[in-house]
Amino acid sequence: MSVVQNIMEEVKKRNPGEAEFHQAVEEVLISLEPVIEKHPEYVESGILDRLVEPERQIMFRVPWVDDKGNVQVNRGFRVQFNSAIGPYKGGLRFHPSVYLGIIKFLGFEQIFKNSLTGLPIGGGKGGSDFDPKGKSDNEIMRFCQSFMTELYRHIGQDIDVPAGDIGVGAREIGYLFGQYKKIRNGYEGGVLTGKGLTYGGSLARKQATGFGLIYFVREMLAANNDSFKDKTVVISGAGNVAIYACEKAKEYGANVVAMCDSKGYIYDKNGVNLDTVKQIKEVERKRISEYVKHHPEAEYHEGQKGIWSIKCDIALPCATQNDIHVEHAKQLIANGTKIVGEGANMPCTNDALNLFLENDILVAPAKAANAGGVATSALEMSQNSMRLSWTFEEVNSKLDAIMVNIFKAADEAAKEFGMEGNYVAGANIAGFKKVADAMMAQGIV
Ligand code: NDP
Repeated sequence: MSVVQNIMEEVKKRNPGEAEFHQAVEEVLISLEPVIEKHPEYVESGILDRLVEPERQIMFRVPWVDDKGNVQVNRGFRVQFNSAIGPYKGGLRFHPSVYLGIIKFLGFEQIFKNSLTGLPIGGGKGGSDFDPKGKSDNEIMRFCQSFMTELYRHIGQDIDVPAGDIGVGAREIGYLFGQYKKIRNGYEGGVLTGKGLTYGGSLARKQATGFGLIYFVREMLAANNDSFKDKTVVISGAGNVAIYACEKAKEYGANVVAMCDSKGYIYDKNGVNLDTVKQIKEVERKRISEYVKHHPEAEYHEGQKGIWSIKCDIALPCATQNDIHVEHAKQLIANGTKIVGEGANMPCTNDALNLFLENDILVAPAKAANAGGVATSALEMSQNSMRLSWTFEEVNSKLDAIMVNIFKAADEAAKEFGMEGNYVAGANIAGFKKVADAMMAQGIV
């Protein structure tokens, strides 16, 4: 058995039932094979064995009282995966599908993503199986306060810095920060990112992941003498990442014709009206099906998966993991899609990813392409430390420069190992090498 196969066997044995975690580890390890061959010292120092084992995993009870006076109990998680290059950093996800395997897959991916940003941040992730949908503001607040009442003892601006993810936006970060500040009796702005602008948040953080995705894809297109102009784009999701990817793609002259939420998708051949989507999802917190009430010429279809049957040049999965399976990949390829840009984390199954690569579809991998969010979170931490705030333009231009550098790093690593154009492998290799070298330098810890 090869080194990678051995480690995979161990990962499956030691982490039973955590399918998403196995998938994420396998995808990375396979692409690292040529690196390991060239650098046997990584294997001899147990870098891979250590990398797949989180430094610390915390699970805790989150009790809270709903509006009817009933006691509810959820489960909270924080996985502190790797601190070789900086404090643990990664978002919190509140969604009923959350369990340890999801948090571990996200935390594992975060190590490489954070490394790719070039900024000093380690990898971590957290969340809860709490479902914010249908809850009142007061219920959300009580849940966040209870969650932080345990989490506070494990985090800190030099230890572990959480942010948002699915189900955790500015509202939730505000409640979490308020509780942290109360318990700690002091303002430590850098302990959470994605904060509101009135209390230490960064301009452009809200837009950063979606904009960053488009900057990365812009670079990938440019390397192939192409651009967004007049391209037909389909985006899954209608949350934070999807909305701002849509905004920047439209700005670059693309026609975004479809978006979705978990219940169904809209198709508007004239181009999705983003103001309407923002009103429905960001302000009213309603379903995307409302869109056709404002735009009767558009179509709404129940079920989210049908979105991948729409003909497009560029597909941007920005909803959740394992959104695109092999059958959807086949549909996209048959319809002439040339580019897939991963806004969500692990939105393609490994089989779908391989099919894209075999068919010369250019793939912008999540670890690189959606790193703009965490990069801008790190810029928020810098502003908090310096006690000043940069303008939108300053933050946005730093974000753009970071995405250009990430693209270059993935491109160069792919070329160095004879896989030109395979940005999936390139991103994994470039992200891995920095962490591995830092771990080597720090001894067996
Ligand atoms: P949001 O909660 O803002 O939006 C998520 C969107 O995806 C919603 O439209 C939601 O629909 C949809 N969705 C969620 N679960 C499913 C599902 N099982 N099937 C279909 N659709 C689903 O989250 P974000 O936009 O912040 O995150 C989206 C993705 O991007 C995630 O993978 C996240 O990890 C990743 N990401 C986010 C970053 C950020 O800065 N926010 C940074 C890097 C990565 P509905 O409302 O119906 O649930």
